[in-house]
Amino acid sequence: MLQGMSFKKIVIKIGTRVLTQKGNSLDAAQIKNLVNQISAIVERGTQVVMVSSGAIGSGMGLLKLKQRPKALSELQACAAVGQPHLMQAYDDLFKANSILTAQVLLTQEDLTDRKRYLNAKATLLALLSDRVVPVVNENDTVSTDEIRFGDNDKLSSLVANLIEADLLILLSNVDGLYKYDASKKGRELVSIVDKISGEIESMARKGKDELGTGGMVSKLQAVKIAADSGIPCIIANGKKADVLIDIMECKKTGTLFLPSSDKMAAKKRWLCFGAKSKGSIKVDDGAKEALTKRHKSLLSSGIIGASGDFKKNDIVSVVGADNKEFARGIVNYSSHDIDKIKGLKTAQITKTIGHKQKDEVIHKDNLVITEK
Ligand code: GLU
Repeated sequence: MLQGMSFKKIVIKIGTRVLTQKGNSLDAAQIKNLVNQISAIVERGTQVVMVSSGAIGSGMGLLKLKQRPKALSELQACAAVGQPHLMQAYDDLFKANSILTAQVLLTQEDLTDRKRYLNAKATLLALLSDRVVPVVNENDTVSTDEIRFGDNDKLSSLVANLIEADLLILLSNVDGLYKYDASKKGRELVSIVDKISGEIESMARKGKDELGTGGMVSKLQAVKIAADSGIPCIIANGKKADVLIDIMECKKTGTLFLPSSDKMAAKKRWLCFGAKSKGSIKVDDGAKEALTKRHKSLLSSGIIGASGDFKKNDIVSVVGADNKEFARGIVNYSSHDIDKIKGLKTAQITKTIGHKQKDEVIHKDNLVITEK
């Protein structure tokens, strides 16, 4: 299915188990193999951002720990010890292939704030155009999202989104997504998934494969973010000798997840997946229909209420009468103001709160429908 696609920008996420021996020291031969494959891909003209785990695993080895610590602060300490070591390994190996690397440590909050998101994007794109391979990891000292759950899975899909990648590759120590075939009394690798259905999600829950903190369930969540923003995704076994080259040459490898939508505009993708909402606005059925079916802006008249404490320009969820989010947007009024203008006509806004910045509470250009 990837036949005929040329890849300009790709994100390759490498999980802890791929990079380490028994999870607690770096596997030098394995890292060399991956670096050589990525170097060959870069040589062919594709820009690559790596999202690499392995800092905790590497730190455990250096601190001579056999068991993964339980306390979060100790895991963070391991990451702080391991990250420079991991980076050094990449840097030395890429340098031997005349390629420079750059360390980029990110937190989800960096991608939540629009200004920081745009800065991170500009930096990554500048690095790529200088033919540098950015190596991204979660900034584990200050953020623990991916240590707790994910092993950088979500981070990698947010990065793919950020740079508008053509492909996201998630390398782990399993061949891909398996389904149980009752007739053959065995499991079978799924080669293509065109939609992440309930059936696919339950397959992921059954697979007891994995890995640090990122099992198949967290991988599927990452795949969903990518697929919903128009980016195809592959889960494949990073321990296979030529796995990345095979993928780039469109040989059947791992499980390919097709995008569920065309590429969304960058701002809408950020609204949808990168940003965290600060509160919610509840609207009536008429407003919901105007937003979802007629692509209108949200006006005060359709608003039933607001919850949370948000300011002008914050990101909020828009929920229907059932309290389920169906859209997200950048709001032009604070929760305090919305409380006063809910249900009113636009013409009554100034009289009620003493000012009117905009007619729309959320302008349609700053609104994205999240309900499928
Ligand atoms: N950022 C972490 C690391 O590099 C993620 C992996 C994990 O939780 O084990 O080690």
